[in-house]
Amino acid sequence: MAQPRVLILGGSAEAFSLADALAAVPGLDVISSMAGRTKYPRRPAGEVRLGGFGGVAGLAEFLVADGIDAVIDATHPFAHHMTRNASDAGARTGVPVMHFWRPEWLPEAGDNWTEVNDMAAAAGAVTSGDRPVFLTIGSTELMAFADLTDVRLLARIIEPVDPPAPATAWPSQIEFIYDRGPFGYENEIELLRDRDVRCIVTKNSGGDAARAKLDAARELGVPVIMVRRPARPDGEHVATITDAVAWLGRHLNRVRDKETAPPAV
Ligand code: NAP
Repeated sequence: MAQPRVLILGGSAEAFSLADALAAVPGLDVISSMAGRTKYPRRPAGEVRLGGFGGVAGLAEFLVADGIDAVIDATHPFAHHMTRNASDAGARTGVPVMHFWRPEWLPEAGDNWTEVNDMAAAAGAVTSGDRPVFLTIGSTELMAFADLTDVRLLARIIEPVDPPAPATAWPSQIEFIYDRGPFGYENEIELLRDRDVRCIVTKNSGGDAARAKLDAARELGVPVIMVRRPARPDGEHVATITDAVAWLGRHLNRVRDKETAPPAV
C-alpha cells in the first residue's frame, strides 16, 4: 500500500498543532494547505502548499491527482467558503472530510456583548462618540466601517495590506496597529487602557489564541460587538485535535484492512 496522505486545510492556530501531531506519525504524509494571504506565513510541519485550489472542481482534482486519503478542514471558523468547498469536493470524490470546529465563545457574567449576524450589522451597532472603537476582525471586512466617518477606529491586523478593490485607499478614520497574535491578557488590558477604547468589534472565533481581549473587556467593563459565526455545511466534525487525530487513525485503519483483506468470493 502506498504511504497514506492527509491534507490539512490550514488557517487556524490548531491547524499548526495538528500538522505537528501528524507529521510525527511514521508512515504518514502530511500536506498543509494555506490560502497564502500573508506575506510571511508561519510554516507548519510537513509538506506545505500555498494558494487556492480553484473552487470545488480544483480541490476535487487535487484530491484525486495527489492521492489524498483524507482531508481535515482546520480552517478558521469564518472561512466558510473553503469549508463548503471541502465538504462538496469530499462528496464529489469520495475522499472523507473531517471538519475541525472549535467551540465558540459564550458570554460570561460581567460581559456586555451585542451579538450581530454580520459585519454590516456590526458597523450599524457602533454608536458615535469620541473615544476609539477597537476592530479585531482582520482586514478583509474593514470597508464595512467606511461610512462611519465621524468614528475613530483602531484596527489590529497582522501586516500592512491594500484595501480590497474597488477601494484604492483605506478610510482615513482607521488607524492601524500591526501585530500578530496570540495576545496575552496583560497586553490586552494595556491596549484597552492606553488607547481608551470604548468598544470592541470582533468575530466569534472561539479558542484560546484570541480570547484574552474578551477577558480584558470584561475586567474593564468595555462593551463588545460580537459577530456570530456563518452557517456551516452538514458533515462530520470534531472539536479537539485529539479527536481529529483519532478519527484519522480509525479511517486509515479501515482503508488498510480493506486493502489487505482476502478478495471476496
Ligand atoms: P474563505 O472565504 O473561506 O476562502 C476563500 C478562498 O480562499 C477559498 O475559496 C480558497 O480558494 C482559498 N482558501 C481559503 N483557505 C484556504 C486554504 N487553507 N488552502 C488553500 N486555499 C484556501 O476564507 P477567508 O475567510 O478568505 O480566509 C482565508 C484564509 O485565512 C483561510 O485559510 C482561513 O482559515 C484564514 N483565516 C480566516 C479568518 C477569517 O476571519 N475569515 C481569520 C483567520 C484566518 P479556492 O476556491 O481557489 O480554492
